[in-house]
Amino acid sequence: MIMTEILKVNPTAPEEEALNRGAAILRQGGLVAFPTETVYGLGASVYHQESVKRIFIAKGRPGDNPLIVHLYQWEQIAEIAAEIPERAVLLARHFWPGPLTLILPKKDSLPSEVSAGLPTVAIRVPAHPVALELLRRTQLPVAAPSANLSGRPSPTRGSHVVADLKGKIELILDAGPTGMGLESTVLDLTSVRPRILRPGGVTLEMLEAVLGAGEVEAPQFTKCDRPLAPGMKYRHYAPQAPLRLYTGDRDKINRYLLKIILRETGAGKKIGLLAFEEDRKDFPDLPGLSFFSLGERANPAEAAERLFNLLRLCDEVGVAAIYAVAPPRVGVGEAVFNRLWKASGGNVEEIK
Ligand code: AMP
Ligand code: MG
Repeated sequence: MIMTEILKVNPTAPEEEALNRGAAILRQGGLVAFPTETVYGLGASVYHQESVKRIFIAKGRPGDNPLIVHLYQWEQIAEIAAEIPERAVLLARHFWPGPLTLILPKKDSLPSEVSAGLPTVAIRVPAHPVALELLRRTQLPVAAPSANLSGRPSPTRGSHVVADLKGKIELILDAGPTGMGLESTVLDLTSVRPRILRPGGVTLEMLEAVLGAGEVEAPQFTKCDRPLAPGMKYRHYAPQAPLRLYTGDRDKINRYLLKIILRETGAGKKIGLLAFEEDRKDFPDLPGLSFFSLGERANPAEAAERLFNLLRLCDEVGVAAIYAVAPPRVGVGEAVFNRLWKASGGNVEEIK
């Protein structure tokens, strides 16, 4: 156990003292959790190999799942990547700072712990003022995966980081809720065609608007047998209770679910239901039923912002099972669907 310092930080005008403290700890080889616009990250200097190893230990992260290197300005990319194709320059100009991670060939000088032994490296510039200012003061590339215990929902609140990592890391900078709520889009630029390994806030449509129509390969996340990103083979974002995801016609799903929920709550079971505001009227207030709203169906950004917090709330309430109504797979809805799919461990039922 180590003493974890927890500092509250203003998300838009971060306090000098907190930033300097974070930068000093990172430069000395300590671990600092900090907010980004996607989720909280757990950072260590890429040049402190022992510290990078400690990230894996603190999270319980499998050693073959590489980390994302965070930079404060895109020019630093030359320090990390061995090749910088024209496409990377274009994308960086458009989307950085922002929720897009690029996979590029790695430089030999980058310690292999960061890339989990792969010849490639994941890189991004985050758009959160606290992350950017911390990185600027640290003046070093910072390796940072999400600041949660491996397998748990990613942290979108400082309190989530405290719950998972207090006693294991030096500092938590708590700036309240993150903006986007889901992890960055991961785009592989080392394949012949750029391909999305993980969908996120920067959508396929947004990438093709820059690279050209048909130039980007869509995510193939439902094929679990041969994972594209090393992280894809692990069960992710999992609350303690089993989660079942329902796809298909909304009215039919709701009628079907109501029957199950009536039966199960009648038998004294606690059930968590993740659905949209419009679905609320289809479910009466029942003892044992917790309705968790993903917001308006037409606004997947709302579902993205809420999802991980709601999965953690399900654990807090102690539900025995979670049922989730699938979001429309358009725009950021694709990323929300991806995280729900992963939380379900492939437990998906189509209602026709
Ligand atoms: P996290 O920061 O916890 O969201 O995890 C980073 C994600 O990026 C994981 O899914 C990794 O598998 C993926 N990733 C990191 N580096 C690479 C790489 N070199 N090639 C492919 N995927 C990567
Ligand atoms: Mg993660």
